[in-house]
This record gives sequence, C-alpha cells and structure tokens, in this order.
Amino acid sequence: MAEDIRIGIAGAAGRMGAALIREVSATAGCRLVAACEREGHPAVGRDVGDLAGLGALGVAVSDSAEGIFRSSEVVIDFTAPAATASHAEFAVRHGVAMVIGTTGLSAIHEAALVGAAHKVAIVRAANFSIGVNLLLALSEKVAATLGSDYDVEIVEMHHRHKKDAPSGTALALGDAVAVGRKVALKDVAVRGRDGITGERVSGSIGFASLRGGDVVGDHTVMFATEGERLELTHKASHRRIFAKGAVRAALWLKGRPSGLYSMRDVVAI
Ligand code: NAD
Repeated sequence: MAEDIRIGIAGAAGRMGAALIREVSATAGCRLVAACEREGHPAVGRDVGDLAGLGALGVAVSDSAEGIFRSSEVVIDFTAPAATASHAEFAVRHGVAMVIGTTGLSAIHEAALVGAAHKVAIVRAANFSIGVNLLLALSEKVAATLGSDYDVEIVEMHHRHKKDAPSGTALALGDAVAVGRKVALKDVAVRGRDGITGERVSGSIGFASLRGGDVVGDHTVMFATEGERLELTHKASHRRIFAKGAVRAALWLKGRPSGLYSMRDVVAI
C-alpha cells in the first residue's frame, strides 16, 4: 500500500486553514503532519484539531514556517502574499512541493513563485473549486466563439473581510476571456468605474467588485451585445469546495516534476 502523503498547512487558524485541517484529516492517502501561523498569533501552540473543531489530533500549531517545510512533502498555503512568497523560498530550500491558494500577489511575489517553480512542483490557483475551473474553460471558449462584438463584464461578490479586489478568481476569468480573444488582459482590463468615464471602449473587459456579509464567492461573466446577453455564473456556498480541490491538488503533486501547474492541469479540463 502506498504511504500517506505528509501534508503541512500554512495559515492554520485562518478561514481556509480550518477547512483544510478538516479536509486533510478526512481524506484517505493524506496525513496532516505540521501546521503554522504567523508569529504572535493566539493559535500558536494549540492543537490543530481543536482549531478545526475535530478534537485533538496531536499536531501543534507552530510559529516556524520553515519548520513545517522540514517535515512535509507538500505544504498547502492559503495565507497572505508576502508570507506565501517567503514560504516559496523555504519550499526550494527543503525540496517541498506546494499548493498555493493565496490571492492578491504583487508582481514581485509572482516572480518569487515562478522562480521557485523551476526547482519544485507548485499548483497555484486563484480558485480551487471544480465548478470555477470549468467556468474558466467555458469562458475562454465562449469568448473565442462570440468575438469582441460582445462586451465582457465580470462581476464578483465576496464577504466583508476580503482584502483584495477584484478577486483573484475574477482576474483569472478575465484572463481566460483574454486568452479566448487572443489579447493580453493588462491591455484591455477596466478595473472599476467612477465619475464621467466616457463610453465603453470596445474590446475592454470590465470588472466590478461587491463586498458584504458572509458571501463565500459569487462570480458572473457577462457577454452583452445589442439584442442579447449571455451570463455564466458560479456561486460558492461553502469553503469546503476550495479545501477539497486543494487536497486533490496535493495528492496529484506526488512525484510530479518541478513546474508551475494550475487547477486545470489537476482536473484536466
Ligand atoms: P484568513 O485571513 O482567514 O486566513 C489567513 C491566515 O494566514 C491567518 O490566520 C493569518 O494569521 C495567516 N498568516 C498570515 N501570515 C502568515 C505567516 N507569515 N505564516 C503563517 N500564517 C500566516 O484568510 P482566508 O479567507 O483563509 O484566505 C486566505 C487567502 O486565501 C486569501 O488570499 C484568500 O483570497 C485566499 N483564498 C483562496 C481561495 C482559492 O480557492 N484559491 C479560496 C479562499 C481564499
């Protein structure tokens, strides 16, 4: 029988951290061996199982990110941009694969991940749900089919605690549309409108972000032209879907060569 894959979790006390602890514990073929939080976090020293409402699992939350890379084969990281970039350095130093869900990375943080992926295998996705990854593939296809006579607007809504906008998923959807149209998103993106904006520029891809309550994540890609509008919508109602996808990615990484992979690679959409 194959040995369980040893998984570490960075950001164990976060909203996703708790969902990941539950998912890793419930998934055959995985073993949760280590977890960390930022220095000074009140969860440091507590048992991960207690954090996730499972009862003690015998793994304490550490404040040493590097420590979890020493004992893990794969580290799942849903933390914050600067933390994730520094964790990627530990991954290279210790030859550990990563599953990265953190969003809102700057160009410098992105470069750190791309550099690390020359040495280790990384699955990185703005959204680990299977439904959203299907939506990415569909958006690319619909954009290629309809062409730029259809105006594309991407609307997202998230809970009141979310720190970045537009969401990483909305940007990934914009990228999928841009790929379908054979343009670069950065050349056509319009991120929010306010005041006298003038008429819509043909070929642009617009973004609008709503924030409120406990919304886990809603995304709509609209294709609008004179006379008709096509809308593709995904609504997440539970964080478990992201944790499930991340754990699936961790299992998929076992034995994979170095490289930067997406969730579309994992589910082969
Ligand atoms: P959160 O704020 O609840 O959790 C983040 C946790 O990371 C916190 O507990 C924080 O203390 C911890 N952290 C910060 N710096 C750290 C460090 N240096 N070392 C260890 N831990 C550290 O946020 P969340 O809702 O769980 O989301 C976390 C990230 O994941 C965000 O970027 C969010 O956008 C993203 N996210 C991605 C997906 C996806 O499918 N890709 C889904 C949900 C959330």
